[in-house]
Amino acid sequence: MKKQPVYSVVIPAYNEQEVITETYNRLTNVMSGIGEPYELVFVNDGSRDLTAQIIADFCRSDKSVRLINFSRNFGHMPAISAGMEHARGEAIFIIDADLQDPPEVFPQMAAKWKEGYHVVYGKRAKRKGESIFKRVTAKVFYRFLRSMTTVDLPADTGEFRLIDRKVCDAVNKMPEKNRYIRGMVGWVGFKQIAVDYVREERFAGVTKYPLRKMMKFAMDAITSFSYKPLKLATMIGFIISLLSFVYIIIAMYQRFFTDQTVEGWASIIAAVLFTQGIVLMILGLMGEYIGRIYTEIQNRPNYIVQEIIDGESIGE
Ligand code: UDP
Ligand code: MG
Repeated sequence: MKKQPVYSVVIPAYNEQEVITETYNRLTNVMSGIGEPYELVFVNDGSRDLTAQIIADFCRSDKSVRLINFSRNFGHMPAISAGMEHARGEAIFIIDADLQDPPEVFPQMAAKWKEGYHVVYGKRAKRKGESIFKRVTAKVFYRFLRSMTTVDLPADTGEFRLIDRKVCDAVNKMPEKNRYIRGMVGWVGFKQIAVDYVREERFAGVTKYPLRKMMKFAMDAITSFSYKPLKLATMIGFIISLLSFVYIIIAMYQRFFTDQTVEGWASIIAAVLFTQGIVLMILGLMGEYIGRIYTEIQNRPNYIVQEIIDGESIGE
């Protein structure tokens, strides 16, 4: 008979062989300290190093570990989605594999959950050991995102959080392909509360989020929760038309009532290039939305599972 776990921990991992053992040890420590049945759901997002083998070893010696192996690298958000869909607990923790978010905050989160909150998200009070560039871009990005969207997306939070079974089910039911999970969790509502924590340095290894992935992530976040950028086109078009109209009047005045020669070439080129740039930018912006409509229509799965190794069925 399987014992129903009270807590699930979802851990997405991509090439994390340097830290994964430490992660497992610390999670096991914290979770056994809480003293209720739990499971660790590792999602291996197509790692090319030994991450999968190391986790498979945990499964062999520990019944509470499960490993979901993807057929290739699908990304951080698909990995978390898979973990959420496979989690069996009544409350689900989501945590990165790199120990930047300390699992030692779990008991505090669990306490809030027992008080009746459905979402307990970690709020970064401090960020250690991240480059100024990353900190500034993150700060600007979250402020910008908040101003762009109508959903209340708390600033300075990542995926590090506890969610109740109800919230997990609600998010799992949302069919979208470009999944910005922290936004979706915010969107579903329920009783949410923050817990402050200090964001640590990565325990080992390097970031798996190069600039390219960060940009995609940022666009996913904005486009999934707002179409304000599309309104930007109308706004800019309106402003430029207004300015051009004023300028036409000035030019006509100069032509008919003064003998100033109108300076030609440079100003025309400048105006043409400027408006062309804006038109292309707006086309690109629309392309972002169209591309996302396209992926939704294609309706491919968010990830493909190659195999699942369940500690329960092979452990002793
Ligand atoms: N990750 C993943 N798939 C990816 C990229 C990252 O599963 O394609 C995982 C990674 O193993 C880590 C988490 O997502 O557990 C966050 O990644 P990372 O720490 O590199 O991002 P950062 O904290 O630098 O933003
Ligand atoms: Mg990290």
